[in-house]
Amino acid sequence: MFNLIEQPIMPVPGIPVLNYHAIDPDVDASTRNVSVSLSSFREQMEWLHKEGYKTIGQKDLKEVIVSGKKLTEKYVLITFDDGYYSLHQYALPVLSGLGFTAALFLSTSFIGNTYNQKDFGFVSHDRQLTWGEIKDLLANGWSVQSHGNRHERLNKLSPEDIKNEVTISKNSIEQNLGTKVDSFAFPYGIYTSQVITQLKAAGYQFAYSVHSGKLFPKAGRYQLPRIEINNMDTMDSFITKVTTGYTSASNARRSKIRDIIYANASVKDFIEKFTPMFGFGNH
Ligand SMILES: [Zn+2]
Repeated sequence: MFNLIEQPIMPVPGIPVLNYHAIDPDVDASTRNVSVSLSSFREQMEWLHKEGYKTIGQKDLKEVIVSGKKLTEKYVLITFDDGYYSLHQYALPVLSGLGFTAALFLSTSFIGNTYNQKDFGFVSHDRQLTWGEIKDLLANGWSVQSHGNRHERLNKLSPEDIKNEVTISKNSIEQNLGTKVDSFAFPYGIYTSQVITQLKAAGYQFAYSVHSGKLFPKAGRYQLPRIEINNMDTMDSFITKVTTGYTSASNARRSKIRDIIYANASVKDFIEKFTPMFGFGNH
């Protein structure tokens, strides 16, 4: 018999890795927008703070993933992709006010520029951060990692071009900020086994996908999970995502099957070659 009522989903331990893009005070709540309104963002962060969550630092995070260090605190990792000015303008004051930090995954070729690319229509009024503004984020405890150079769909590039995307962005951040880049977030969530090979060769230790679920000790280093938060989220859906890692019980079931199949990225390559609609991506 069909069960039309969604089964409840239970909270699980592990670290919720939240994936945001831009913060926009004027975003229309009725639109499917990857920007999150400032009021929703503030409410979400205040809820995390009230519930006793702490933002995990890079050192602790590394120990959890690599050595399987047990979690003694209620941790969350807040990540922002691309590098919009609205992060400096709106996200930074909200986070700093609560003692929170975040990780920024930066696309380095756009520094200081406005967006005229089709894929960035939702932030046409925003612009990319400047290095000076990015240094402010760093000074407030943020980590700055790579999201590639030109925000390309990496499965469409030659190995040589993938290598350029991952090395140019890494070198650019390291030279401009004097920090170490060891993590990558796939643009649009798209990756292949070749992308992972190039990341390892370039010296990256970790890569973040947009596969949902929570991050557990000894998680697969190059397919770390992240949960996308967008403007369609209500406080209820946000809380479900943070506490369970998924949007619903059926989402959890599908994702767990996918995680088993995709644990080997070569198997993922093979499946996606024949079923292009299986791509799990956004920005
Ligand atoms: Zn992106």
